[in-house]
Amino acid sequence: MAVSDHVDLPTFMEGVKKRNPYQPEFVQAVQEVAEDIFDFMADKEQYHAQQILRRIAEPDRVVSFRVCWEDDAGKIRVQRGWRVQNNNAIGPYKGGIRFHPSVTESVLKFLAFEQTFKNALTGLPMGGGKGGSNFNPKGKSVREIMRFCQSFMTELYRHIGADVDVPAGDIGVGGREIGYMFGQYKRITNQFTGVLTGKGLEWGGSLIRTEATGYGAVYFLANMLATKGEDLTGKTAVISGSGNVATHAAEKIVQLGGKVLTLSDSGGFIHDPDGIDQEKINWVKEHKTHRRGRIEDYVAAFPNATFVAGQTPWGVPCDVALPCATQNELLGEDAKMLVANGCRAVAEGANMPTDLDGVHIFKAAKILYAPGKASNAGGVAVSGLEMSQNSERRSWKEEELQQMLKDIMLGIHQSCLTYGDQGGGYIDYVKGANIAGFKKVADAMLAFGVV
Ligand code: NDP
Repeated sequence: MAVSDHVDLPTFMEGVKKRNPYQPEFVQAVQEVAEDIFDFMADKEQYHAQQILRRIAEPDRVVSFRVCWEDDAGKIRVQRGWRVQNNNAIGPYKGGIRFHPSVTESVLKFLAFEQTFKNALTGLPMGGGKGGSNFNPKGKSVREIMRFCQSFMTELYRHIGADVDVPAGDIGVGGREIGYMFGQYKRITNQFTGVLTGKGLEWGGSLIRTEATGYGAVYFLANMLATKGEDLTGKTAVISGSGNVATHAAEKIVQLGGKVLTLSDSGGFIHDPDGIDQEKINWVKEHKTHRRGRIEDYVAAFPNATFVAGQTPWGVPCDVALPCATQNELLGEDAKMLVANGCRAVAEGANMPTDLDGVHIFKAAKILYAPGKASNAGGVAVSGLEMSQNSERRSWKEEELQQMLKDIMLGIHQSCLTYGDQGGGYIDYVKGANIAGFKKVADAMLAFGVV
């Protein structure tokens, strides 16, 4: 019988900070979860005695490796690659690959930690992982991107597998990059397996995977509004980002009768008072994804819009907000502004876009606020369905998948209600998601003993 170890939250967090120096994003993610889990564990001795949270906050392994490639000018470039395998208590590690200059071990550890809870919430058998590189795809030629992806996979292939660890895309990694990585995996191993998700439809991909994260976030938002007897008809939405998640969230808002006012990228945001309709969204998709352009070019195409350089869109008054770009893009001051301007619901499309101050402000204001691990889980959920289709060697129909996505988002919403209902009509979705995700992983870990 393990000896009980009842440290309090500040002591626990001191330990996390000490063991993970210079990893602020990881410490922030653990803090956000620990705040809720400590309450939940107060009367549950077995989680303390078995040090479950301490174990989940220590990745199973972090693999770091060199990625060399040659640019078009013949110059040798050296990047760093990582795969963080955080926890596989309920299934193979699963989580995206990010290519962005801001990628560090801390960022990937935070993402893999969050992914562990998110994947548990989907109800599908997937553990948590994340990977990536500080490689900057911006301004690189297609051949350079291909060479980089091949070099990255030449090391990564040793650590992944259909029943081991199944990466997907994330920032800077879309269908094209998944194709180059899958091609290299297949070439090295001579195996055609569901080792990556987000694949092309011709070679094992799933319908609606591309749309799933953005659509799922809006389904979750609609589920939250429904608890107040409201829907999205006529509601104004402020969205950040202009990549995969942002454009598909915008598309679903429009389909459900809402009006999208903003989109953004790392250069600033555009505000279109006429609303960003499907035709304009298609323009953004083409311009950002295929032409790798900048969002500021939107105002030349749609002159009623304005571009605000170097700023985020949270000052634009709205009914609902969806941060869909990156971590820590919505700070305490922004949260205050949104609440003061009458924003009633925030659903995170990105991972940890709201900083801890912002989270505390949304909670104190008691608005409908969904953390990414709940509201953006639609993408990984359809990735899980892609894995099932690959194992079965068949493809499901679009209607079936659309319904499954809706059902999964509703199930996550229900889990949040189970553990987050605070009475008086207030649901703490952060608490609900943290506890529901933790409980599933924790109970599996208890079954395995001390491993
Ligand atoms: P994309 O690469 O398609 O788009 C990312 C968008 O965010 C771009 O508009 C980009 O602008 C912007 N962005 C990136 N970094 C910054 C920054 N530092 N400051 C401001 N804007 C920035 O990525 P996704 O849409 O796939 O991912 C967006 C978020 O959603 C991430 O947090 C990701 O982890 C999360 N997510 C994605 C899932 C998916 O299925 N794709 C699943 C679950 C979560 P620019 O073009 O200027 O770089």
